[in-house]
Amino acid sequence: MISLNGQSGGGQMLRTALSLSMITGEAFRMTEIRGKRQRPGLMRQHLTCVKAAAAICDATVDGAEIGSTSIVFRPGKLRGGDYQFAIGTAGSTGLLFQTLFPALCHADAPSTLVLEGGTHNPLAPPFEFLDSVFLPAVAKLGFDGNLELLESGFAPVGGGSIRGVVRPMEKPLPCEFRDHGTLRRLSIRVPLRNLPVSIAERIRDAALAILPEAEATVEARNPGPGRGVCVLIGAEFEHHAEMTSAFGEQGISAEKVAGRAARAMRDYIATGAAVGRCLADQLLLPMALAGGGGFLTMPVDDHVPTNIAVIGKFLSVRIRHYPVASGQVRVEVG
Ligand code: ATP
Repeated sequence: MISLNGQSGGGQMLRTALSLSMITGEAFRMTEIRGKRQRPGLMRQHLTCVKAAAAICDATVDGAEIGSTSIVFRPGKLRGGDYQFAIGTAGSTGLLFQTLFPALCHADAPSTLVLEGGTHNPLAPPFEFLDSVFLPAVAKLGFDGNLELLESGFAPVGGGSIRGVVRPMEKPLPCEFRDHGTLRRLSIRVPLRNLPVSIAERIRDAALAILPEAEATVEARNPGPGRGVCVLIGAEFEHHAEMTSAFGEQGISAEKVAGRAARAMRDYIATGAAVGRCLADQLLLPMALAGGGGFLTMPVDDHVPTNIAVIGKFLSVRIRHYPVASGQVRVEVG
């Protein structure tokens, strides 16, 4: 049984372990799950990942309870099929999808997934990021799936849902993400639900002040559950797509929200790196499963070393990251 200590990271350490356990058939024990977070242990969204993974690979699990800081997961046989899972809160359907997707790509039959919860949450990939950045990037590594937004669900109410189709991987494709090529289109989208449109317009205008060359739209997603607003800044390059985002919060001005996402995009473009900060940690697992590859990214955050540590327990791949010229970081998997 593989032993992992989750203290140095967040839910991603658990999700990566679940994906890899489902694929490799190796059981694992994780202790001190989310040990340094304000509320350590399994929250609803993490528990749903555990239960959904267990359902898909017929696993037995010890410690699958809210607040649990340690679990044992013993996988059985992975089965493709039609699945529906509800988080029960605004927890991120995107992170749940990212847990199940790599595993279902290794199943013997295609799958459909309907996932209910949040689709637009701070500190998680928004639906549009998964659809236009994550899935196209991992398709280059041989992972085949697509996503549809059935209903937007903003934190804290949730009530959103996504539908995914996942097809078994035909062939893993090691891939280099070197150069994103020329910028073809920059877009600012401001989805909002049950809030005054003037808030979204202020966010749009403030983002445009930083990125005047972008096309900008406000998307009122009414009627629907809850309320919320976010800004999604998308960049389509010749060979790659990226997206930064920020969420409206009470007490934070529209201008500040716009500034967070627009400056993150401006900084990403200025580094010239192919892969943005969030995609960097999300590419590690698919790339390791594909058998290798590499990319240039921006200075990485803690998700990269903690994810590498979990991957290294299940797979015999070597993942290195080191700074190169002009503030870029090179990641090598293989
Ligand atoms: P915890 O509450 O334990 O911190 P968590 O389960 O919410 O954890 P993390 O372990 O912090 O999650 O992982 C969050 C994941 O969401 C990372 O892969 C990160 O790259 C991704 N992410 C966060 N914000 C964005 C964003 N704006 N766009 C795309 N991806 C994002």
